[in-house]
Amino acid sequence: MNEAADAKSLYVPEKAEIVDKKAMTDDETWYHLRLSSGRELGHQPGQFVQVSVFGVGEAPISVTSPPSMKDGFELCIRHVGNVTNAIKELDVGDIVGIRGPFGSSFDPDAVKGKDILFVAGGLGIVPLRSLIKTVIENQDDYGRVIIFYGTRSPDTVLYENELREWENDPSVEFHITVDITDDTWKGNVGVVTTLFPKVPIDPDKTAAFICGPDIMFRFVVRETEQLGIPDDLTFLSLERRMKCGVGKCGHCQEESVFVCREGPCFTYADIKSF
Ligand SMILES: Cc1cc2nc3c(=O)[nH]c(=O)nc-3n(C[C@H](O)[C@H](O)[C@H](O)COP(=O)(O)OP(=O)(O)OC[C@H]3O[C@@H](n4cnc5c(N)ncnc54)[C@H](O)[C@@H]3O)c2cc1C
Repeated sequence: MNEAADAKSLYVPEKAEIVDKKAMTDDETWYHLRLSSGRELGHQPGQFVQVSVFGVGEAPISVTSPPSMKDGFELCIRHVGNVTNAIKELDVGDIVGIRGPFGSSFDPDAVKGKDILFVAGGLGIVPLRSLIKTVIENQDDYGRVIIFYGTRSPDTVLYENELREWENDPSVEFHITVDITDDTWKGNVGVVTTLFPKVPIDPDKTAAFICGPDIMFRFVVRETEQLGIPDDLTFLSLERRMKCGVGKCGHCQEESVFVCREGPCFTYADIKSF
């Protein structure tokens, strides 16, 4: 393909069919999609796609399935506005538009041999899940696998069945906490940083991957810094308002950085000044 055609194709959505969907909470739905062309998406953990509903618009959504999934790919969408609520109305068999995968990714090869600490806040579990599953699939390549997941309340827990598997897997150290409890909850209560004092972590052997709202990661990096995990082994995904997804329009720009193209995955060393 020549350069002009290549550039044009960045803006042209491909059709994808919803092959399955399941409500995960009142606000979030899990989707299994397949590109109608039969092409594999070919994403890496941490990357996103631009999902469009024809006649409504587009929204950036992280790919939540691992690259090892060959039969299509998975998304988890919180229904908050025009596009994401229009997606909620769609059924199995309906078609959406997909551009991408876009953005930088988390590189599981770069942290082989390390203990891996995942810290997810709320919807942050969605992009991290792709990497968590990749690491668990190749666990012999890593040391300890520690997952901290903090969410607002018991009814906002995502991927409940899978979390139970991680909880019951002796090779995964899974810890969950909620901000606000109810009668059903037997676990930890408090924000995700309250898990840090409960679990010994060796900073010399650990790489940390953090995903969640800005306010959460600012507090989490305080913990990782205090522990002594190096800034270049502390990885984050930044969420910004995005339009084009390919570093042209500037909606997501932070200083000279286009978050959609150079991010959303960064090391803390890269973004400390933002
Ligand atoms: C790289 C990236 C990955 C993302 N991955 C996911 C994902 O996996 N699942 C998911 O549910 N969401 C994800 N999001 C957020 C998602 O893109 C927004 O919720 C979506 O664009 C909202 O579009 P809308 O048309 O439904 O809402 P709109 O009608 O545009 O807006 C509804 C409300 O949400 C606010 N809003 C819209 N977009 C954003 C945003 N990016 N950040 C903060 N507030 C916003 C608006 O100000 C408004 O208050 C991701 C965003 C980025 C940048």
